[in-house]
Amino acid sequence: MSREKLAGVLPRAALDTGVALEQIRPVCEDVRDRGAAAVREYTARFDGADLPSSRVPARALAEARAGLDPQLRAALEEMARRVRPVHEAQRPAGHVTSIGGGARVTERYVPVDRAGVYVPGGLVPLPSSVIMNVIPAQVAGVRQIAVTSPPRPDSGGMPAPAILAACALLGIDEVHAVGGAQAVAMFAYGTADCAPVDVVTGPGNAYVTAAKRLLAGTVGVDAEAGPTEIAIIADHTADPRFLAADLVAQAEHGPLAACLLITTDPGLAERTEAELRPQVASARHRDTVLAALAGQSACVLVDDTEAALAVSDAWAPEHLEIQADDAARLAARVRNAGAVFVGPYAPVSLGDYLAGSNHVLPTGGTARHTAGLSVLTFMRGIHVVECSAAALAVAAPHIDALGAAEDLAAHVAAVRIRVPHGAGLGEQAAPWNPQRWPGGTTHRNPPVTQGPAPSSPGLGRVGPAPSSADTGTRRRPWDGPPIRPDLAGRSPYGAPQLDVPVRLNTNENPYPPPAALVRQITDAVAGVAGSLNRYPDRDAMALRAELAAYLGHGLTPRQVWAANGSNEIIQQLLQVFGGPGRAALGFEPSYAMHPLIARATGTRWISGARDADFGLDTGRTVRAVREHRPDLVFLTSPNNPTGTALPLAVIEAVCGAAPGMVVVDEAYAEFAREGSGTALALLPRFPRLVVTRTMSKAFALAGARVGYLAADPAVIDALLLVRLPYHLSAQTQATARAALAHAGTLLATVADLRAERDGLVGWLRGRGLAAADSDANFVLFGEFGDSHAVWQGLLDRGVLVREVGPPGWLRVSIGTPAEMAAFRAALTEVLGTYMAAGDGE
Ligand code: PMP
Repeated sequence: MSREKLAGVLPRAALDTGVALEQIRPVCEDVRDRGAAAVREYTARFDGADLPSSRVPARALAEARAGLDPQLRAALEEMARRVRPVHEAQRPAGHVTSIGGGARVTERYVPVDRAGVYVPGGLVPLPSSVIMNVIPAQVAGVRQIAVTSPPRPDSGGMPAPAILAACALLGIDEVHAVGGAQAVAMFAYGTADCAPVDVVTGPGNAYVTAAKRLLAGTVGVDAEAGPTEIAIIADHTADPRFLAADLVAQAEHGPLAACLLITTDPGLAERTEAELRPQVASARHRDTVLAALAGQSACVLVDDTEAALAVSDAWAPEHLEIQADDAARLAARVRNAGAVFVGPYAPVSLGDYLAGSNHVLPTGGTARHTAGLSVLTFMRGIHVVECSAAALAVAAPHIDALGAAEDLAAHVAAVRIRVPHGAGLGEQAAPWNPQRWPGGTTHRNPPVTQGPAPSSPGLGRVGPAPSSADTGTRRRPWDGPPIRPDLAGRSPYGAPQLDVPVRLNTNENPYPPPAALVRQITDAVAGVAGSLNRYPDRDAMALRAELAAYLGHGLTPRQVWAANGSNEIIQQLLQVFGGPGRAALGFEPSYAMHPLIARATGTRWISGARDADFGLDTGRTVRAVREHRPDLVFLTSPNNPTGTALPLAVIEAVCGAAPGMVVVDEAYAEFAREGSGTALALLPRFPRLVVTRTMSKAFALAGARVGYLAADPAVIDALLLVRLPYHLSAQTQATARAALAHAGTLLATVADLRAERDGLVGWLRGRGLAAADSDANFVLFGEFGDSHAVWQGLLDRGVLVREVGPPGWLRVSIGTPAEMAAFRAALTEVLGTYMAAGDGE
């Protein structure tokens, strides 16, 4: 039973977009040429609303949300709760494929930047459409999502309140009151009121569909939504009441809806017919149902379920229900369908609202080649190609042959200029990302590879051959350990630890502990050494009490928690409040470990942007929080690498807007300039706020690994769920307590470092360089056309600073006065040669 044989036999409404296409073409061209003015005119003409701006005011969204019927609100929230995890599971992981010999291809999935969702106005507004389109976009990580829906005369020229309320519930604050083809054109071309989007999704009428077809290419579009349809495969076990109800439910969508009952049981066809009569008669949309059932609908009798499957696959329905014996087994064999509903208790109506699956599905037989709306509609895979010199040499002869066959000599030359003939075989494979300093030390950690190690090119062996004598047996080829795909190919954290005279790259405190403290630490550690046979106090109560006293702000030991460095604190927070299916938002550039630890804990990382001056505008920051609704927000104050503290007002606004935890990383708090304030002051008002600190910087104790946090006691109870038993060793606790006893002396160096820092900022600016305002023990300076050359120049002169985002900038930690003098002298020299080479700016 082939598609060709069944063509024309199975009913389906023909959809002619051609006429609509010619009608909407001038509308789209006009919006392209005249922007917002054209949108305004068409909205007035077609929807009867004259709106000075297409943008729905925030007030209207808030009012719609407040006025939403509580039961509908609960239903929409439950729908979102079910839809979100199903789509989270869709997010593609990305892959790293090693081609061998130091060549590999990474596939990274990246969300589009901006998406536009069309929600039809229709006779009855469909807030469920908002959920089904917006959530996949949010899960994909799309930064900006705009929704449009036609204004309605009965809603005062605004889209239907239920649609506005659904947008507000999902944190969407950009909604436009525009419908029809002009809405699609507004999204595709952009207007003064609405920036252009990268992808438009959402169902609409024939004009919307035609506009999507016309503008596909200018903008990405999802599949065309035609009239809805259902096929039901049913055998003698099916309940005719259920079948009739599902056919009527599908038919009530519109007179062009198509319904196909495919059954092996002639008696069932009759019983269903009998059930249909009363159900159709009492249907609310009786005429529509009658039109659809009398039009493109049919009952197909088949010999067996095998034939039923063949008919359904040939028709490729949008929805397929299987109400038959062994339905799950049959479902597993379906090849063409938008979505399959298995057994008597999974009707399509469940899928429209509450199954968690997406209800935007391919119609008109396009299920043969197209899937329903998903996270992938909003993402693209990008191939990232890396290749070592040795691997390129291996590929070169084949490129010679292919380039010759296609007469593309320059292609061949572009390879041969790198690996001349004969250079490849037996040549030493270059390490990944080699960056050398004069001593010859490679300072970037190689990424963790999956697949053959880079030092084994396909032809000609480099490095020692694996010795069978080592093991006595022949080693099996080793493709590397089977690590999680989302970690494969990643580089581990690795600030260079080079033995150079002036090390100013990891924001350490340059002053070693004073002799009195060294003695006290030694005594304290000796004191616990005698009982190292016992586990330490796993709750570190004494240390927490002393940290609480140090922090002040009326904090109690129950509000303070300690771990091995604030990195471990951050890890514990992400383990409890993040994890698979959850998301954390940070504003980059910021401390690089936040996204790295997020990834390691399976938490999706959402990268928010900073302003051009690296600051965070309150409005934009709050909007990002509302849009993404992350489970955690990370704010770093003072920020690393920029050095600047955040105004407390920004932190306060984020705490007010965030649906989940807000973590303020105050690793450098003690270095902040006067009047900066600390988020500790906000703790009494915001139970979901966490402030993290460290003893690594101001206390000059980086080697001891002590970080801590202040938060509500309930947050600390939650952390107990993930901390490893006895995570903080007895020596660490003793050392930290000794250092706290010397807080006064240690913090005195902070004042010196702050003065040195302020002097450096002034000096850099005096040299015509940019330097960010710093509240920390480091300064970000730039901007260099080739910051790596400056970094290398400093290193050549024995001064190690940090190459850290943003591009063109370098970060220098504040050292002792002698170290800073060395830095200034080296930089002066480097700038001399750098400028002379004409590479400035
Ligand atoms: N947060 C920030 C902003 C940092 O810069 C650092 C270290 N450089 C840390 C946390 C981690 O510090 P530690 O683990 O040493 O406490």
